[in-house]
Amino acid sequence: MSTDAQGGAGSAQGATQLFESLHGRAPQGVWASPGRVNLIGEHTDYNEGFVLPLAIRQRCVVAASAADASAGSSVTSAQRPGETIRFTAATVSPGDVDGWAAYVAGVLWALREAGHVVGELDLVVDSTVPLGASLSSSAAIECAVAAAAAGLVGIDLDATQIALLAQRAENDFVGMPCGVMDQMASMHGKPGQLVFIDTRSLAVENVPFDLSGHGLALLVIDTRAPHALVDGEYAARRRDCEQAAQRLGVPALRDITGAGLDDALARLDGPDDETMRKRVRHVVTEDDRVLEVVQVLRSGTDPRAIGPMLNASHASMRDDFEITVPHVDVAVDTALSAGAVGARMTGGGFGGSIIALVEQDAAESIAQAVAGAYAERGWEAPAPFVTRAEQGATRLA
Ligand code: ADP
Ligand code: MG
Repeated sequence: MSTDAQGGAGSAQGATQLFESLHGRAPQGVWASPGRVNLIGEHTDYNEGFVLPLAIRQRCVVAASAADASAGSSVTSAQRPGETIRFTAATVSPGDVDGWAAYVAGVLWALREAGHVVGELDLVVDSTVPLGASLSSSAAIECAVAAAAAGLVGIDLDATQIALLAQRAENDFVGMPCGVMDQMASMHGKPGQLVFIDTRSLAVENVPFDLSGHGLALLVIDTRAPHALVDGEYAARRRDCEQAAQRLGVPALRDITGAGLDDALARLDGPDDETMRKRVRHVVTEDDRVLEVVQVLRSGTDPRAIGPMLNASHASMRDDFEITVPHVDVAVDTALSAGAVGARMTGGGFGGSIIALVEQDAAESIAQAVAGAYAERGWEAPAPFVTRAEQGATRLA
């Protein structure tokens, strides 16, 4: 198992070389922004609640230069070989660019919509974040492009402002109604720290995440189950939550506290309200679990104490929010049977990756146990790696 899934990639070099071979000149600058793992707090961000992600080592690198206004903008991805997508940043609108390049064109559109003059750009991206594995390759590419555009032109935007523009690109240009967690994690990540976000106020606090000091490791397993968040399920969950908040007369489900949960559930008493009750119970209990985990980690006590909260989060996603799939449940159950301290699916769901808090010297055997369970079922082998909290968006050259 790799402890550094990035290998030699993820440096400025790959994107720079591709840029030079395509454009016959060196890029004016190179930026990078990472993917993320969410430790806990799933589907709470668009309910204005709490999330606790960390930026990971895998990241999207963007080599960029200004282009002539007459030439328009271009983007090439090392992950989409042989394809260069062209559009005019000065006029591009939602619907004009689809497919993967929408994540890029959408960022330039969102910058323009916010009143920033970016001009036309040549962009080359190269990412080590696996695409569609719930590790947020989408926020990585958006934030890297946004940081590159702002950096090249000298637009003064802070990390949260860039995250919000990137989210706007995904919501209104790509058409995926995601919350703001992924972009905030990609921008605000710090080595050895979790990013604790109150998604209502957008207040960010770093929380120390020292696992190795306690003999622990964070194992990520990309289940490689087919997953597509842009399909309707994510949007359907979001709609359920918004309808529930409306029925309960609160601005967002964040406003229902753990103490008020029973009362709220009792008010959703129609014959067809069972699903809505389950959605509400997930969001409200998940917010509480985030706060509990933050408290444990801040107090400096043994991080093993968060294991049961990770497990409870998974059960809640499986039974109440109904966003897990067999690949994910088998990975979590097998990791726990093989000795993990705690485990849960991470990210929006319907596939993607799981995380397991493990004793350092058990990471390998737990990963093997999950691979064995997959082999028994005739499933494609999962991709495990050990991760730790890394730096958010940064300029490389
Ligand atoms: P996740 O964010 O969990 O990886 P998403 O479905 O939100 O999954 O985003 C994945 C999509 O983002 C890809 O299908 C592709 O359209 C786009 N994308 C991300 N990174 C790249 C890249 N390096 N090159 C091309 N497209 C990318
Ligand atoms: Mg995504």
